[in-house]
Amino acid sequence: MNQPPDPPPATIVRVVLDRPLRAALDYLPPDGRGAIEVPVGVRVRVPVGRAQAVGLVVGHATESALDTARLKRVGEVLDETPLLSAPLLELLRWTADYYHHPPGEVIFGALPAPLRAGASALPLEEHLQLTTLGATALAAGECRRAPRQLELMEMLARAAGPVAATDLQLMLPDWRSAARALRTRGWAELLELTNEAAPTANAAPAPPVPALTDEQAAAVSAIDAATGGFVCLVLQGATGSGKTEVYLRTVERALQRHQDVLVLVPEIGLTPQLVERFSARFTVPIAVMHSGLADGERLAAWRDAWRGMARIVIGTRSAVFAPLQRLGLIIVDEEHDSSFKQQEGGCRYSARDVAVRRAQLAGLPIVLGSATPALETLHNVAQQRYQRLALPRRADQAAAPTLSLIDLRTQPTQAGLSQFAIDAMRRHLADDGQVLVFINRRGYAPTLLCTACGWIAPCHACDARMTVHRGADRLRCHYCGADEPLPQRCARCGFAVKPVGQGTERIEETLRALFPEQTLARLDRDTARRPSDAEAVMQAVLEGRARILVGTQMVTKGHHFPEITLVVVLNADQGLFSGDFRAPERLAQTIVQVAGRAGRELRAGEVLLQTEYPEHPLLQNLLSGGYEAFAADALKERAAAHWPPFSRMALLRASATSHAQVIDFLDAARRSAGQAQGLRLLGPVDAMMARRAGRHHAQLLLESAGRTTLQRFLQQWVPQLEALPSARRVRWALDVDPLAAD
Ligand code: ADP
Ligand code: ZN
Ligand code: ZN
Repeated sequence: MNQPPDPPPATIVRVVLDRPLRAALDYLPPDGRGAIEVPVGVRVRVPVGRAQAVGLVVGHATESALDTARLKRVGEVLDETPLLSAPLLELLRWTADYYHHPPGEVIFGALPAPLRAGASALPLEEHLQLTTLGATALAAGECRRAPRQLELMEMLARAAGPVAATDLQLMLPDWRSAARALRTRGWAELLELTNEAAPTANAAPAPPVPALTDEQAAAVSAIDAATGGFVCLVLQGATGSGKTEVYLRTVERALQRHQDVLVLVPEIGLTPQLVERFSARFTVPIAVMHSGLADGERLAAWRDAWRGMARIVIGTRSAVFAPLQRLGLIIVDEEHDSSFKQQEGGCRYSARDVAVRRAQLAGLPIVLGSATPALETLHNVAQQRYQRLALPRRADQAAAPTLSLIDLRTQPTQAGLSQFAIDAMRRHLADDGQVLVFINRRGYAPTLLCTACGWIAPCHACDARMTVHRGADRLRCHYCGADEPLPQRCARCGFAVKPVGQGTERIEETLRALFPEQTLARLDRDTARRPSDAEAVMQAVLEGRARILVGTQMVTKGHHFPEITLVVVLNADQGLFSGDFRAPERLAQTIVQVAGRAGRELRAGEVLLQTEYPEHPLLQNLLSGGYEAFAADALKERAAAHWPPFSRMALLRASATSHAQVIDFLDAARRSAGQAQGLRLLGPVDAMMARRAGRHHAQLLLESAGRTTLQRFLQQWVPQLEALPSARRVRWALDVDPLAAD
């Protein structure tokens, strides 16, 4: 039998850069090294034009499409071992392909900023050490008159080697000034050395672990049984039904199998609570990754995962690319949350979908947890692609909250609060309950109106009204951030102006007047700029220091408040008649999530929805059959209209300073698409808010019955878009599986 001939050895190194290029670049290996001695996954410095750039090796080749004689050489090789493992690189390339984003940008996007810039992947730390000169000086007693310097030198002499800055800090807090003096005399030197210290493990005493309910136990064993292959399990249960307890138990099993675990959460605000529960249960080091970290902290967390020191990574969207070495389980909490989808800038990926792909490529179980799973997810359950695990009962509670509608057309209101809701609040507060008032709008009022001439304060850069912020005495645009003084008089006729409509700030004012004896807290992006602020407000409510909580969407994330017995939803109608086909889903999820915050042992919570459309089928469905009934109905509607998940969509968004430029580009894009088989193109149309921050926004919608048709089309179309002359006059982005329709 003939052996196939050995392939010729690779001579070319293929490198991607953190730039909007579709292809990898070819380089020759550095002098004295073979191409494969520069392994896939390491960073290199390469010449690009007349500059140098940091690149990452993605492959090797035996020949280049370019003239080999003209290829440049790789400069410095920055890493000894790959930063990205082969499976992780494969996931990143899949992400780049699926979302049609330049692969180099996707790959570098998975690295912390210092690594993108070429910093060492090994944790380096400043160390101080005595020089020979210093040792001689010490022996000769030359520094007796400077006690601090003497102390430091003696300490270094005792260590007989370099001492890390953190250790010096502990022993001699003002070591730096002494060190400076020693270095000027040549008696000591600073070195950057690898710090091998492991991240701190937790040693907190473990709290008692509850015995699982039957449903929890069934869920844990189903996840356990899935180990060793790809399975997507949907853990569906209301807030407080014990999902987190199920996560904790399955994580425990994975750790016992010596596997690492990745846990994704939608918001930074949720991470501290989850981290607290995980670190109370496990002693292994946990790395936390979210957008609120400083570069150094993010790098440290990334390294801990990469070096195999952190066994659990808990993080938001971008943590889906965490470099865990022995990943054995992925958990996505609140999987329906739209913040898993990158909505602006960069590669518009869905971290949930990428997580499912990661589990599939690596052959692992993944758990998607939610009280209100996305319709896509429920559809996958119906198609038996995903397996549902239900936690129908609240683990710590007797009854689910009761939901009822308040007809705003027949009820007197005070600043947006119906008399019925006010009476209910009185009753619950008198009965020792807490109350949550939900309104999805921050600020004092959404409109500033002149009652004489009808003038409304506009944003000059957007098709939006300015929102009144009374506390700050400002008018602000919630779309572009425009900010100006709050006028007393109409800009057109000079008559007095007045705020119209409600925001959280005004509701707070009204409630303070109605319930002067009660403590009240407000939670929105104005009162909680940082996650720790939000946490402080939630703690105040949990500890009963605030009896009434007024808040926006922020209250629907995270804590379950067992002492809240009444929830009032002020504007349930937002989303009932929106042009966005996903609006009803979001509304139903919000209502169920807000409702789920309430209720305590043996006493069901009460939820009141204020609406002007009490007969609306969506509200009726939710009322009679809960989220399940709503979802079943909504999926039928999606099927009839050929909306996702019964079709696939991509949105080409563009903006420019002139309307004509945007439309020119989108028209050209549409023409270049030709007559694509099995594909519908809709548009160009203006975005729902066409003018934003002084730019005109418009879009072209692509829809296809199947994923493959759409993907195949996009693959040949995106390069054509890049080549369009009109593309250079606009900002454009392709959004595959868009969440928002504008
Ligand atoms: P979820 O993540 O679905 O909101 P949690 O796991 O946080 O639910 O559980 C809600 C509360 O019930 C927590 O205080 C938790 O400690 C408690 N709990 C969970 N499972 C059990 C159980 N089997 N027995 C008793 N208490 C439980
Ligand atoms: Zn006026
Ligand atoms: Zn604006």
